[in-house]
Amino acid sequence: MFVLFGFDKEKIKDHGPAIPAVCPHCHNPTHFRLVEVAKWFTLFFIPIFPYEWTYWLKCDICSRGVELDDERFERAQRIARAFRKWRAEQISEERYNELLRKSRLLEYTERRLTRSQKDL
Ligand SMILES: [Zn+2]
Repeated sequence: MFVLFGFDKEKIKDHGPAIPAVCPHCHNPTHFRLVEVAKWFTLFFIPIFPYEWTYWLKCDICSRGVELDDERFERAQRIARAFRKWRAEQISEERYNELLRKSRLLEYTERRLTRSQKDL
């Protein structure tokens, strides 16, 4: 019997814009989007189950990204939710900026983009 399987299929889940910043790579003011990349085990090219997840903040313009660990991903999810609430006028801009500052994700993203990058 012939069984065709693989491990290379990637699916990207976009959690939306999270962090406003000037991209150190393309130098455009933008919002970094929070994305989740899952690698899937496939059988006859059909995705069966995911087996590995990575988390990224990526530039909305040049798509360069910074990888996040699990803890920073959780913080970034809270910021992405706060961003949506701010845009829906459910929280103030001051509250969003306060949450963003407390997350310390902006400094992390700027520092990491100068060293490690990935095109997403
Ligand atoms: Zn960029």
